[in-house]
Amino acid sequence: MGYNVAVDGPAGAGKSTIAKLVAKKKGYIYVDTGAMYRAMAIHFLGKGIDPENMKAVAEACVDANVTIDYEDGVQQVYLNGENVTDKLRTEEVGNMASKTSQIPAVREKLLELQRGLAREKDVIMDGRDIGTCILPDADVKIYLTASVETRATRRFEELKEKGVPCDYEEIAKDIKERDARDMNRETAPLRKAEDAHLVDSSEMTIEEVVNAICEYCR
Ligand code: C5P
Repeated sequence: MGYNVAVDGPAGAGKSTIAKLVAKKKGYIYVDTGAMYRAMAIHFLGKGIDPENMKAVAEACVDANVTIDYEDGVQQVYLNGENVTDKLRTEEVGNMASKTSQIPAVREKLLELQRGLAREKDVIMDGRDIGTCILPDADVKIYLTASVETRATRRFEELKEKGVPCDYEEIAKDIKERDARDMNRETAPLRKAEDAHLVDSSEMTIEEVVNAICEYCR
């Protein structure tokens, strides 16, 4: 069994930014489980599947094979042999992932992939249900959150910087909707594990958050 650090929290809390930096500092492998749900979403989008149609989504899982590899320490995600890493981070894919990740067949498909990585390697794994479902015996659990306003502002600045036209109110609405879906779904809802350390990054710099998490880790 590797040394396992689980990081859960809502969309836009900075999980991936922080987890990547902790991984670098501590020599862990960073596992982004959201990217796996996003790869499944690309599969469903490619097939034109309605995310509300649970049966169609479950059936489409059968011929989806998501695998992970690392290139210079950076996670690469493959869908049926094709590297889809560059296609994962669009709003369309994110929305499809948020809707279809509620469906048990989708979660079951990715469970073993996630557990297998944690068995073999020292990992910091981020997601929504890592501390509660995937790695209930993780060595360290972190619940990383921030206010809706902070998360929406960060996302707004990030998109503005990239020159992507965006609207703050739209982003905040989208974040609230994703929170509601992630927290209220029946299968593996987002919640803080009882033994997770709560880190609220609203008033913290990236460096402060990284240091706070590193303090909990070996
Ligand atoms: O974290 P990220 O935004 O990339 O995740 C995409 C979607 O996948 C989320 O909106 C969430 O609903 C889902 N997800 C999940 N469980 C995880 C990771 C992500 O349900 N462990």
